[in-house]
Amino acid sequence: MKQVSFLMTVVLVMLLISCTPTRKKEYASFDEYPVPNGDLTEMEYTVHSTTFSLWAPTADEVRLMLFDSGHEGHAYQTVPMEPADDGTWKATVEKNLLGKFYTFNVKINDKWQGDTPGINAKAVGINGKRAAIIDMRMTDPEGWNTEVKPAFKSPADVVIYEMHHRDLSVHFSSGIKNKGKFIALTERGTKTPDSLSTTGLDHLIDLGITHVHLLPSFDYASIDESKLKDKKYNWGYDPLNYNVPEGSYATDPFTPSSRIREFKKMVMALHKAGIRVIMDVVYNHVNDLGSSNFERTAPGYFFRKKKDGSWANGSACGNETASERPMMRKYMIESVLYWMKEYHVDGFRFDLMGIHDIETMNEIRKAVNAVDPSIIIYGEGWAAEAPQLPADSLAMKANTQRMPGIAAFSDEMRDGLRGPFNNNHKGAFLAGIPGGEQSIKFGIVGAVKHPQVHLDSVNYTKIAWAGEPTQMISYVSCHDDMCLVDRLQASVPGITPKQLVLLDKLAQTAVFTSQGIPFIYAGEEIMRDKKGVHNSFESPDSINAIDWRLKALHADVFAYYKGLIALRKAHPAFRMGKAEMVRKHLEFLPVDGSNVIAFRVKGHANGDACQDLIVILNARTQMTKVTVPAAKYTVFCKDGFVSVDGSLGTLYGPEVYVAPQTALIMGSY
Ligand code: CA
Repeated sequence: MKQVSFLMTVVLVMLLISCTPTRKKEYASFDEYPVPNGDLTEMEYTVHSTTFSLWAPTADEVRLMLFDSGHEGHAYQTVPMEPADDGTWKATVEKNLLGKFYTFNVKINDKWQGDTPGINAKAVGINGKRAAIIDMRMTDPEGWNTEVKPAFKSPADVVIYEMHHRDLSVHFSSGIKNKGKFIALTERGTKTPDSLSTTGLDHLIDLGITHVHLLPSFDYASIDESKLKDKKYNWGYDPLNYNVPEGSYATDPFTPSSRIREFKKMVMALHKAGIRVIMDVVYNHVNDLGSSNFERTAPGYFFRKKKDGSWANGSACGNETASERPMMRKYMIESVLYWMKEYHVDGFRFDLMGIHDIETMNEIRKAVNAVDPSIIIYGEGWAAEAPQLPADSLAMKANTQRMPGIAAFSDEMRDGLRGPFNNNHKGAFLAGIPGGEQSIKFGIVGAVKHPQVHLDSVNYTKIAWAGEPTQMISYVSCHDDMCLVDRLQASVPGITPKQLVLLDKLAQTAVFTSQGIPFIYAGEEIMRDKKGVHNSFESPDSINAIDWRLKALHADVFAYYKGLIALRKAHPAFRMGKAEMVRKHLEFLPVDGSNVIAFRVKGHANGDACQDLIVILNARTQMTKVTVPAAKYTVFCKDGFVSVDGSLGTLYGPEVYVAPQTALIMGSY
């Protein structure tokens, strides 16, 4: 008996040791932090039990709190979590927890870090404070598992339309019921009150874009989701929960499944309409470092510091994440794959991509390719302040050649056309100021090496940073800075309404005949303005909303943009996709003086029906004569009109005349 009781005591003590929910772990550096195998799932629900897991390698203690509500009341149960060897803490609750909410709380050095839904919540309550226990399969709209993505052949075929949910639908003239919501993009047959113009999704289909690029649509902090009647506006570059849709774009943000199901409905409707969906992802910084889910689970780990010990701030938003650390890298890869698999997202635009390291971006591309190589990836190849990593290791524009399959925005072309980002009132090529020509040519070839582009005269970059032209995003305006109409008004002294329209069209002609991937900002195609506001990130709807009545007023502008897109689609010579082919077929033609660019794409490039395609961009206020190869040309674009079928007539070389502030596009057969 004595022996037995001794044995029992030993077993009991061993059990107690193995079950004790306290553990202290010190690491000499972040490199020593254990990295768990497998994915970073924090909550796994079944009807019988729910398993929780949180990576908190430096914690003394971790507890799970269960709530009945997403925002009210105290926890009805607190569950101590148990440490595992890989830095995670685990707990299983043997009950059906469907409909409940949870948070984690981590104790480090005797200090509780504050409630957090974890870094990987997939569903949340109002304002993203508590994670929700839901059955994700219940959020799938009917037909979700069999829905099909629109066809995709090459990134060279992509035409991107950057939009904010509120901008697109919130104005009364949109005729859209679900204003400012994800499902605004599911509504068909919407029109302006006078029935003159289609709006929303029908408008996008008519325009002919291939991809919508959604401004931040993950859960962000700046809008109080419980006070939507306040009609507050924000772009959303203040991330809270990276893997949950934003609540203010849902019809019922209090119900966790609402935002998820409605996001999926939106994707499905866009896919059905032949349009793919790109998400703007902002892994480079969080809304508030101190209260972030990262900092409350593994303090210090997810953020870079400066040499003096203060927090680094490459985002100019107060912090800078550390993509080079294994768990942050793993987190980013998993998050991207999650949006692809759970939400059928087709592309990602990385905000301030230059803060991330090259290796992480390449790992993301590799992981994405393993699932679906048709997913496009691009980003801002810069940072707001110099990040705390060596410049040659960062995903900066200059390093694009080391990131195959990832594109960067060309500010060279953008500013060569409209003027520098740091001075709204300074014009360039479009304003008739000489000097932007080489920067625009750099953009026309898609930022690849080309014998006729003189890099020493290109504005920001002295190297041809793209390996392939599809690694360059070609644009003249986006949500940042003034929109095109405002910029032209601010930077072209004495501009008349007629000139405004002409220069707007001319600017996008450069964009759409570039070998890079063309990108436009929503509403430019109907001359939207933002009343001159340069940084409208939290401006009211009166600044940001698209007034759809402009579409009838500027029917010719809409027809022009639509025509440019159709022309690009009809002519493979405008989307060669390969640097070698661009160098072989694209030739700039000599012109006298400044503010005129002429080029031809010769020799049935990329299988084009045309022998030669000629493009002339004339930003001068005078008619300009240009010498082209002697031939009979079918005119596709002239005097501010575009026609794919050649109804604009014919011209004969070798001398052609281009009207002031217009483009001429023509082809010989
Ligand atoms: Ca939110």
